[in-house]
Amino acid sequence: MRLVLPGHGASRGSALGRARVRLPHVLEVAEERIPADAVPAEVQRLHAAIDIVRSEMRQLRHRLHGALAQEVGEFLDLHALLLDDPELLHGLDELIHTGRYSADYALRLQRDRIASVFTGMDDAYLRSRIDDIDQVIGRIHAALHRRAADLQGVAGEILVTDNVAPAELAQLQAQGVMAVVTAGGSALSHTAILARSLHLPLVVGAAQVLQKVNDGDVLAVDGTSGMVVLEPGAEDLRTHRSRMREQVRERRQLNRLRREPTRTIDGVDIKLYANAESRADVAEAHALGAAGVGLYRTEFLFLQRNELPDEEEQFRAYRDVVLGMTGRMVTIRTLDLGADKADRTGLVMSDEPNPALGVRGVRLSLARAALFETQLRAIVRASGYGPVRILVPMVSSREEVLAVRKLLKKVIRDLLKQGHEIADTIPLGAMIEVPAAAIGLPSFIGAVDFLSIGTNDLVQYLLAADRNNDALGDLYTPLHPALLRLLHNVITIANKRRKPVAVCGEMAGDATFAPLLLALGLGEFSLHPATLLELRRAIRGCDLGALRARAPALLRARDRASIEKWMHAS
Ligand code: PEP
Ligand code: MG
Repeated sequence: MRLVLPGHGASRGSALGRARVRLPHVLEVAEERIPADAVPAEVQRLHAAIDIVRSEMRQLRHRLHGALAQEVGEFLDLHALLLDDPELLHGLDELIHTGRYSADYALRLQRDRIASVFTGMDDAYLRSRIDDIDQVIGRIHAALHRRAADLQGVAGEILVTDNVAPAELAQLQAQGVMAVVTAGGSALSHTAILARSLHLPLVVGAAQVLQKVNDGDVLAVDGTSGMVVLEPGAEDLRTHRSRMREQVRERRQLNRLRREPTRTIDGVDIKLYANAESRADVAEAHALGAAGVGLYRTEFLFLQRNELPDEEEQFRAYRDVVLGMTGRMVTIRTLDLGADKADRTGLVMSDEPNPALGVRGVRLSLARAALFETQLRAIVRASGYGPVRILVPMVSSREEVLAVRKLLKKVIRDLLKQGHEIADTIPLGAMIEVPAAAIGLPSFIGAVDFLSIGTNDLVQYLLAADRNNDALGDLYTPLHPALLRLLHNVITIANKRRKPVAVCGEMAGDATFAPLLLALGLGEFSLHPATLLELRRAIRGCDLGALRARAPALLRARDRASIEKWMHAS
């Protein structure tokens, strides 16, 4: 039966396909027996998987911060106990030895055995502990199939699940998954940013999907509106087909702008830089005529791994971006690990009560001088291959900029002494994403060569609204009078001092905000190549003089509705 399951559009594009549901920690295993001589290897395989889970849980424990550390930590400790539980382990070995079951099926049998004991309990709390058993057994099962079973993407299907990690998303796209729908998640998460970069339609926060959708059900997904339709009817199919036709028409139209300048109606050239991390992003940015790379997020080199990338590995990564841009400027942002970007790194990060306000970005870099120096060396070496700028994240004071500059000078001196070829000038810039940096800009603008406004974090910190918390709904928005005034101040000060200033948060990539940002005086945008042509089209339709004349009215707006009214009149 047709059912509409609303979520939030996180990455545009439409898809029609069969659903593949990945329930969290569910074990679907058919009975399987093994020959007697395969028993020892099977037991070994099982124990190797258990070891992997033990070490994963240890690492997870390390990475947890603050309140989460307490809450989730208790579960992890319980899970660690379960993993070492002699009854569980002995039962599993026994099933493989005597029943000659495969490790997978032994897990399933053992799970069902324990579950039957738990379900018979009177105490509701104890009964609910079966969830923990399921999670532990689910993890062991995933570890048994490290390569294949973790991700169940199938070409032409739509993956429906609770949540997806950024690393998984890239694999799903490579497997040909057409779209992803998640019950949780947020449109501002790094998963969402990556989905947009991969052109993979994504709907998040579709709360009902896991209850209502089954494997093989047909879904129509619209990553723009966030609408998911289960078993779509004739009208939905018509809408889907017309959306697809519209997408093709739009692509064709936009492609004509590949070689056109980004020039307003009244003849002012605006610079469009690209936010690019992968080789594909860099190639796309180059092909679309981006002025350069405006944001290369280096933390992605550090995530989802157990060891740190050394100087050589980092140097090669940065050099390849520089070479890919053939002489156009590449802005490399120093490490911005911490808060929501902390999944599995080679760094041991200490528990923090409030990681978003903790040791992240430049604070972490300055606290780990050796790590930072290695990164600066790698970046400076890459400057021998083409123009490079260094961008420092999460700056909140002049002292931080001065400390980075001092270390940068030392690194340059050392590299020159060691005979490396490096650029004559390497501009140093600051991200403006902490309100203190925006308000206190006059005190340190003299110490930087350029600025990049990270609206994703600036909105979060200015409005005290977590960028990843879906429950906040409209509270997290750039359409707030305080944000517009702050942006205007930063841009005005930078323009007066002739320091280049860009916006590199997601706001820059949304063409509907272009008139607003132009009115506030912005001349540079940095955005993912996926929407670069759209932004170019929007800017080519703007009359900058007229927009600037309307800026005072925009700055007088007292609420979101009046800002939106101003935008509609543009
Ligand atoms: C930002 O905060 O706007 C930004 C570009 O940085 P990130 O999204 O990587 O935190
Ligand atoms: Mg940021």
